[in-house]
Amino acid sequence: MKEHYSIAIDGPSGAGKSTLARILARRLNFIYVDTGAIYRTVGLDAWRRGIDSRDEPGVVALLDGIRITFACSEGLQRMELNGEDVTEEIRAHVISRYASDVSAMPPVRAFLLQMQRDAAAENNVIMDGRDIGTVVLPDADMKIFLTATPEERARRRWLELQERGEDASLEQVLADVNQRDYNDTHRAAAPLRQAEDAVLVDTTGMTLEEVSDYLETMIREKLAL
Ligand code: C5P
Repeated sequence: MKEHYSIAIDGPSGAGKSTLARILARRLNFIYVDTGAIYRTVGLDAWRRGIDSRDEPGVVALLDGIRITFACSEGLQRMELNGEDVTEEIRAHVISRYASDVSAMPPVRAFLLQMQRDAAAENNVIMDGRDIGTVVLPDADMKIFLTATPEERARRRWLELQERGEDASLEQVLADVNQRDYNDTHRAAAPLRQAEDAVLVDTTGMTLEEVSDYLETMIREKLAL
């Protein structure tokens, strides 16, 4: 009998990874780990200090003095940066770009790797990100690659931003989605790609309910839960 199960969900931004991972974690009684939030926290620190998001030496110099912790409870992952709760602030539009840029830097990825593996060593986890099935948890019990068309993903992100009261046009959000897709798939360090043993799920045109039921059934079958 295995001590802990791990489920990796990867895919481009806006595919619905975090919403679905949160729902599935609740249904299966697993802990949900949002790795994008960890990259966002590094991005936030750089942004606050006025460091350009592409200034690799500048960002890397921050890592020495940065303390990132996260606590997962009831599907909500609270992020702390040097003891300050930044859970809300890391969702700002500008931080998406910062997170995307800093995540392309190999020292940043190396710095955050162990933190992610530790979370999976101690719990039954559903972890979402870009390289979970390929790099962080190559031995995950189940790997899912979630995707949807760029237009659909941009529309979902835009609705989220509207709800937060952020003013961004749909065209701008679509341009950002395309830019981040490009960055995520073309970077040298741990680029976004589907692991060979991952199941591909395209959520375009599917409701949240449909996708979550489908994934739950698939996971329960595979893990015999
Ligand atoms: O998923 P989310 O949009 O919050 O992630 C923020 C950024 O962090 C993404 O643009 C992606 O480039 C990066 N990321 C990553 N590897 C992960 C999770 C996120 O490179 N495992």
